[in-house]
Amino acid sequence: MYHQPVLKNRRTLLERAEKFISDIYFTDCNLRGRLYGDSCPLESITSFLSCKRIPFTEAAQQNFSPYKIGDTFGPTWWTCWFKVNLKIPVNWRGKEVHLLWESDGEAMVWRDEQPVQGLTKEGEKTSYILTDCLKDEEPHSVTLYVELACNGLFGAGQGSMIAAPDPNRKYSVQKAELVVFNRDVRELLTDFEMLIDIVKQLGEGEQRGYQALFTVNEMVNLCDPTKASSYSKARSLAHKFFSQQNGQSQHTVHAMGHCHIDSAWLWPYEETIRKCGRSWVTAIHLMEKNPEFMFTCSQAQQFQWVKTWYPGLFSQIQHYVKKGQFIPVGGTWVEMDGNLPSGESMVRQFLEGQRFFHKEFGLHCKEFWLPDTFGYSAQLPQIMQGSGISRFLTQKLSWNLVNVFPHNTFFWEGLDGSQVLTHFPPGNSYGMEGKVEDLVNTVKNNKDKGRANHSAALFGFGDGGGGPTQLMLDRLQRVQDTDGLPKVWMSAPDRLFSELQADSALLCTWTGELFLELHNGTYTTQAQIKRGNRQCETLLHDIEVASSLALSRGEAFEYPVKQLQELWRLLLLNQFHDVIPGSCIEMVVEDALRYYEDIRRVGGGLLDDACRALLSKEQKGDAHAVFNSLPWERNEVIQLQDTAGQPGLALVSVPSVGLATVKNTQPVAPVSVTVQADGTVLMANGILQTIVNKNGSLASLHLVNANREAISDGCHGNQFVMFDDVPLYWDAWDVMDYHLQTRKPVLEVVQPVQIVSSGGLRGSVSFTLRISDKSTITQEIVLDAMCPYIKFNTQVEWAESHKFLKVEFPVRVRSPNATYEIQFGHLQRPTHRNTSWDWARFEVWGHKWADLSEHNFGVALLNDCKYGYSVHRNIMTLSLLRAAKAPDANADMGTHHFTYAIMPHTGSFQDASVIQCAYNLNFPLRLIRSAPGTVPWSALSVSDPAVILETVKQAEDRKGSLVVRLYESHGSSVTTMLRFTLPVREAWHCDLLERPDPTQPAHITPDGIILNFSPFQIVSLLLHL
Ligand SMILES: [Zn+2]
Repeated sequence: MYHQPVLKNRRTLLERAEKFISDIYFTDCNLRGRLYGDSCPLESITSFLSCKRIPFTEAAQQNFSPYKIGDTFGPTWWTCWFKVNLKIPVNWRGKEVHLLWESDGEAMVWRDEQPVQGLTKEGEKTSYILTDCLKDEEPHSVTLYVELACNGLFGAGQGSMIAAPDPNRKYSVQKAELVVFNRDVRELLTDFEMLIDIVKQLGEGEQRGYQALFTVNEMVNLCDPTKASSYSKARSLAHKFFSQQNGQSQHTVHAMGHCHIDSAWLWPYEETIRKCGRSWVTAIHLMEKNPEFMFTCSQAQQFQWVKTWYPGLFSQIQHYVKKGQFIPVGGTWVEMDGNLPSGESMVRQFLEGQRFFHKEFGLHCKEFWLPDTFGYSAQLPQIMQGSGISRFLTQKLSWNLVNVFPHNTFFWEGLDGSQVLTHFPPGNSYGMEGKVEDLVNTVKNNKDKGRANHSAALFGFGDGGGGPTQLMLDRLQRVQDTDGLPKVWMSAPDRLFSELQADSALLCTWTGELFLELHNGTYTTQAQIKRGNRQCETLLHDIEVASSLALSRGEAFEYPVKQLQELWRLLLLNQFHDVIPGSCIEMVVEDALRYYEDIRRVGGGLLDDACRALLSKEQKGDAHAVFNSLPWERNEVIQLQDTAGQPGLALVSVPSVGLATVKNTQPVAPVSVTVQADGTVLMANGILQTIVNKNGSLASLHLVNANREAISDGCHGNQFVMFDDVPLYWDAWDVMDYHLQTRKPVLEVVQPVQIVSSGGLRGSVSFTLRISDKSTITQEIVLDAMCPYIKFNTQVEWAESHKFLKVEFPVRVRSPNATYEIQFGHLQRPTHRNTSWDWARFEVWGHKWADLSEHNFGVALLNDCKYGYSVHRNIMTLSLLRAAKAPDANADMGTHHFTYAIMPHTGSFQDASVIQCAYNLNFPLRLIRSAPGTVPWSALSVSDPAVILETVKQAEDRKGSLVVRLYESHGSSVTTMLRFTLPVREAWHCDLLERPDPTQPAHITPDGIILNFSPFQIVSLLLHL
């Protein structure tokens, strides 16, 4: 059958085949040169330039002027609209006709006022199919509009992808014409490409590779590019090869269309809306032609955008969701960062997401989907399970810089013991192209060979959108069951996970967090975003608590359902995995900060309204009352303004989740502040005694009752240090291990320590240090009466380049592990560098506190808006500010305000109330005007300090019912009583989606509701008032 002689020369045979389909060499005589037939110019092309992103209807009414191919337009972020009039020649009857469009930027084709297809060179989409087979009766004259965004798939980085965008870039259309497209050539080219790839990928060790080689060689012999009639012989040879089937034991690859669209990254939120439109309309178009094609799509926020901006497209999506081809996944509002959002924020990601998917598509997602996020909290398994999800897909841990993660398919066990079936696609990508290489890698890289015989392959251009192409589908279609390659199923996540679950006996279990050994600078970069997130999380918490209490008082209070949902959605959006980590361009930072401002402004009003509604008419007046949203009694010094507007201090005592008026209470022990002979300042409050050096560092920090010194011998606490911070590539993302070698203490004093408050209720001192000729630190060290920690109110003027500012506390504690707060709990990480897994965590994340304790003594480091920590041996370090230059050239430049605190304690951190103190530092007591002598009252409290009442809110869709959420924070099994003075009629346990569990009524006793907790368990209750 073969044309002889076929000599034993693998290389020439292979390269001969490659040249036969090359788009560079021999296109005059090879097959590739035959892809297009006749061409014909457009009738006319005119354009209109807009600095704004406007809707089609508005654009169509503008004045379009003639456009000449090659003319430039711009600048970056503008939009050029084209009106294209074309006339298909009648003699192209029976041909497939395309509009060939090669341009910079990202384009959308509009036809009959509807979006119909995306066009991007980078996403390999350069033609719009006008007709598959031209018929006489179909219209030959067509008008199309092309909306061209002046930015690439990956924004407009100046010089490199992640560099700050070039605002002045010019764009052009290089080609726009009608062409005859030879489908039979395209099909044969795909056969050739796949066979050549099989030869290359299987290599010289596999006989199947040689079978592909001789097949493809003979196809060249059989095929005369000038004679379409010769193609079928070559095609049938290819078909014979592809249809030689696999054995039954072969690995199965579940191919799923996907299009990862970052909700904002190297482009602003507004452009993402259009990216969704372009990418998804293209996916829908592919579904129409390929009924087996399935497309997975996450992020409820993006669906919401498309619903608002492209309602026609959205109803098509609803249709294909019903058909099971367009598959919503993930269940969250956005693909959020997996480390920094609070526990309640993570719950809300699922609550908003799942409720949206249920409302619009009648389903809840069954898989959590987060392929591109920088680490995954150990509480996620419990939060997923509580949100109706027991499966998880990501691949990001393949980016680990130090250790190779040992599994691809495994059970991931969270902090509380909850497990989810987890799959990392072994191809280590969420943007495959359906190539042989993707399939071979999926089998080769699978670290669970013999344990898991199914894997996912996500294909489609991603990050900037784009998604799958017809060519990718054609490639996969050819090798569905081809000996030598894995089986390929066009599949959906449900099918993959069902197969994995059915054969899971040998799967391993990974316990605890999935820590990404890369991108550890993202705990610190863009400090204003981090601060906005923490403050707004706190504010929304307080609004919900106060509004719930106002509601329960039965008066005419309207719970602000709609406004709160809007504010939550803004907060959740900013938690996207390139926004809260700070890895976005400056335009995105500006948007994000504006959203936080909106939350503060609108939320501030809502909180005032709710607090006012807590008082009856008779209780209103001009005296001060204080609202405490936290579930324990607080005794704190607060700042007041008297009726004349003069500032003053007061020591207040406020019950758990309640109110009290301000009385003139005197502390048991007042604060004393004394300048000593050597110029240092001694501050004491009966609990703590500290000596502040002239440069603001602490020479001593003494825990009075225990007679224990917290600062290491010969060392100073509150020591600022600077590091050179030059990563290998990912500037805003990465801080590398070697930065630790460049440590330099900040020692230059501008203003030595001086007394600000001389004692009584509050003692404080302030000082200023010079970091460089451009940057300074000014700090007030505050010690309040009755307070077990010292606060450091800090202001930094920051104008550095590739530097990292931290503060150190060398403490007199020895322990192999430090503890860090995470969502609804805490975990431990090593303080030593024994193994590569230990030292790879040289910079870690935590929330409001970290603690280093030995038996019966420890020191906690609290903060009000920071997330980066490291504890090495006995040195506790808080990461304060970075100065990355890409993708935002001005990241973190300017003035920063933040507060941290140091708290030595006896006993364990649990017994010493470190957790409660960190909450107190973050949730300020809120002042209200009331009548003097208003009786203090408490709405809710919990009898066991291990259990924290985290959330009180109105139930979704249930006016007059509340949801309360509690968690066990110590890591213990406890039974506790939830006490309340609210008129609760009935109570039920419910999940995080607020669905009551009919098997679990919560029994109401005269004292309250008895609740059982296992370590770090989250419990939600539905309370009917
Ligand atoms: Zn991403």
